[in-house]
Amino acid sequence: MAQADDIISVPDERLRQHARRVGVITDDVLDTIETMKAAALAWEQTRDNEVGVALAAPQIGVLERIIIVRHQPDNRDDHRFDAFINPEITKYEGEIGAEPEGCLSVPDTYGLVPRYGAIRVSAMDTGGETFRLKTTGFLARVLQHEIDHLRGLLFVDAVTDDAFYRLTDHGKLKALTKQEIDADRVFWNG
Ligand SMILES: [Zn+2]
Repeated sequence: MAQADDIISVPDERLRQHARRVGVITDDVLDTIETMKAAALAWEQTRDNEVGVALAAPQIGVLERIIIVRHQPDNRDDHRFDAFINPEITKYEGEIGAEPEGCLSVPDTYGLVPRYGAIRVSAMDTGGETFRLKTTGFLARVLQHEIDHLRGLLFVDAVTDDAFYRLTDHGKLKALTKQEIDADRVFWNG
């Protein structure tokens, strides 16, 4: 049974490595996806003010190009996820806008990250079929964040104007000072 602590966090160096493409969908691949789902839900159980929206396989220490995204990110009671195997962004569209992002592997930290407003993604499903998707807004943001994980990139690398925040016990975001950011950055980069 997966646990919240199956999710690795900075400065674990596996978060900085490139994931390899999945060849065929083996039982191991399906097991990885189930472990990812269970780990995201177990993590969410430990958090009062956050939802486990999505996860990339490197976040459980598996360096394969697999991500999962919550079916209904705004509904904690819906525990379904969609799996994207070998996801690729085939087109960036729309305006670039900055919104706050967090990550299960960077505890309690948020930052303003610029992302494209719309993207087209191609990926394989768990049946080995290729599918294509055009997404906008929050889902486009989530997919850009997760696909970055497969190249060893974290959202903290892309935060603009040092707009970093810490999640307080009361569920509020508090701006980090320059000193706090500098100290955190050393930690994020390992
Ligand atoms: Zn993340």
